[in-house]
Amino acid sequence: MTDVDVLVIGSGAAGLCAALAAVEHGAERVLIAEGSAEVGGSSRLSGGIVMGSRSAIQYANEIHEEEDDLFADYRSLMRWDIAAGPVRKFARRSGETIDWLAAHGVPFFERLIFGGEERQPRSHAVDGGGQALIEALHRAASTRDVDIALGQRVDRLLVQNGRVVGVAVGEDEITAGAVVLATGGFGASPEKIAELFPSAWDPERTWYIGHDGARGDALDLAGAVGAQVTGQDRGLRTLGPGGTFVNEALLPGWVVLLDADGHRFADETAPYGILDNAVRAHGNRCVAFIDSAALAPPAELADRYRLAYKQVWPNHPPFRPRHYTPDMIEFMLGQKRAFVADDLASLATEVGLDPVAVTGEIVRYNAFADAGSDDDHGKAGKFLLPLRTPPYYAVPLYPIAVNVTGAGLRIDDCARVIGADGQPVPGLFAAGECTGGLFGPLYMGSGNSLGLATGIGRIAGETAALEARAVEATGERH
Ligand SMILES: Cc1cc2nc3c(=O)[nH]c(=O)nc-3n(C[C@H](O)[C@H](O)[C@H](O)COP(=O)(O)OP(=O)(O)OC[C@H]3O[C@@H](n4cnc5c(N)ncnc54)[C@H](O)[C@@H]3O)c2cc1C
Repeated sequence: MTDVDVLVIGSGAAGLCAALAAVEHGAERVLIAEGSAEVGGSSRLSGGIVMGSRSAIQYANEIHEEEDDLFADYRSLMRWDIAAGPVRKFARRSGETIDWLAAHGVPFFERLIFGGEERQPRSHAVDGGGQALIEALHRAASTRDVDIALGQRVDRLLVQNGRVVGVAVGEDEITAGAVVLATGGFGASPEKIAELFPSAWDPERTWYIGHDGARGDALDLAGAVGAQVTGQDRGLRTLGPGGTFVNEALLPGWVVLLDADGHRFADETAPYGILDNAVRAHGNRCVAFIDSAALAPPAELADRYRLAYKQVWPNHPPFRPRHYTPDMIEFMLGQKRAFVADDLASLATEVGLDPVAVTGEIVRYNAFADAGSDDDHGKAGKFLLPLRTPPYYAVPLYPIAVNVTGAGLRIDDCARVIGADGQPVPGLFAAGECTGGLFGPLYMGSGNSLGLATGIGRIAGETAALEARAVEATGERH
């Protein structure tokens, strides 16, 4: 007899959902080992937006989708470059997962939001954000007798005859019928960012916005049993100047972004996953231009400058600029991370761009603003405000705030970890940000990661419970 039926490593959204689902599928003794002193990981810090299609909330909003609509959109947006099996299963069950979370006490708003560029809104916002999501799941796990051991950072998997049979924390070993890895991403490990997410790595500027437990432990633990790692150089980065540690996922509509050629390359209000991808395609750097009207708007335009965001979240105060305020600009000028000049040509030269290209591009943009129509990138007319009030400011930006890491363990549609031989590693499952291949070349939108963490977490818990029962039934001793 093993010490526990299912052992889950990590207590974020993926781990808690796996543990709950395992109990519901017959596992009697479920233990979560959590490395830090508190439950929740990055999931607790998150905005608590969860993607799902065909939930009761969607139906209540009179949104009706076909079973494979989310999968089809996901696959085409990712240009088919994803692990189709697990993504399809996540997508098909995603509405049911939202209902399941709600039944476990997760307080969703009735109103949905657009997470990216989808036809129908699919992003479900939790009232109280990630904190409320984790509290509800933690409560549900406690009432179902899931044990949680805090301060227990697992450092080794126990393996017998190629099967994972438990885990170890230092000298303490514990055997299990099945083990679920749910240790989150690797944003807190600079070495792993440099190796597995090189386009986000800049030794001078890169920083991580999430939980310090996200060190990529699953990769080391499962690497020792030959697990495959996939999804290199994927994830979500947001733009920053470096040195400020302020995460600005959404830009105000009045910012103009120019690439290294001095040209606009995107609708600046595009969802962050899409903007990230556009920056990647344009040399991985860009420069934000604003004028003085943006810092001190004239009274008659105050509302247009204030209501400058396309996304509105029901659980979030109205978005406000974070880098483009008088105080921050002052601070960045002092750090030589922002630049100012009375004319655009001098400013362009100051930031290393071609003055003719920059001046021409802003003249062109101002004409679009006057006409209320952005013929180059389709930014909505209400966000088009001309840059005509000197002095002008420029802030060189880099995609260096790591939000989500996408490289991780290859899994199948039952969340089984795939080994070097292409076959599942017996006894080993994974869910959440420690998995790989589920984010394609871009991050789909708000709720993408928690949708996967909760959905694949459930699948991992269900299959792990069945595996543990099979192990028990065959009398296999560890
Ligand atoms: C500020 C912020 C906002 C975000 N907002 C959203 C959002 O609104 N919607 C969305 O979809 N995504 C969002 N994301 C991303 C999303 O929150 C994460 O991708 C997701 O929560 C990951 O869940 P997880 O369960 O895989 O990992 P986590 O929630 O990070 O949990 C992993 C846990 O494993 C523990 N652990 C690690 N190693 C070990 C070990 N060896 N032994 C034991 N325990 C270990 C960690 O301490 C941690 O508690 C946001 C991220 C951040 C940082």
